[in-house]
Amino acid sequence: MGSGTPDCEGARFGVDAMLGRLARVLRLLGFDTLYFRDEDDLSILARCLADRRILLTADRSLHLLAKGWRLRTILVPSERIDPWEFARLTVEDLGLEGCVRPFTRCPKCNGEMEMVHRDELVGFVHPYVWHRNEYFAVCKECGQIYWEGTHVERIREKLSGNRSK
Ligand SMILES: [Zn+2]
Repeated sequence: MGSGTPDCEGARFGVDAMLGRLARVLRLLGFDTLYFRDEDDLSILARCLADRRILLTADRSLHLLAKGWRLRTILVPSERIDPWEFARLTVEDLGLEGCVRPFTRCPKCNGEMEMVHRDELVGFVHPYVWHRNEYFAVCKECGQIYWEGTHVERIREKLSGNRSK
């Protein structure tokens, strides 16, 4: 813990097909996360190796295979984990708390998002939403528009979790 500044650029993840919700949460937190929906094991491993991604999988044999490839890999105990809780623990474990950047990455496609003033988005979002938000996050890849509203706060809340134990 506390060993200097974390390598946020290097904090990239690959998530296997059973863990779609976890992939979404990691993206919401701002982490570059590939979600392998149909890829076979070898393609997944090759991609993670090429990008230096940390592989998160609930598949024990894939996890072992990844170890053989000397990939950083984390075995997710079950596909039914609470994705927020698991993401929080993973971020903590890896010392990446300082790398969390809510709403910088599109939960849908992993594209980078930029903040856009509402004046540029007249007619693109419902007037009700438009009036209540000055800035919107727009995905540079797929064009999806998100508004912070209470989302960012909720993310922080969920990430801080319930620490009583
Ligand atoms: Zn997108």
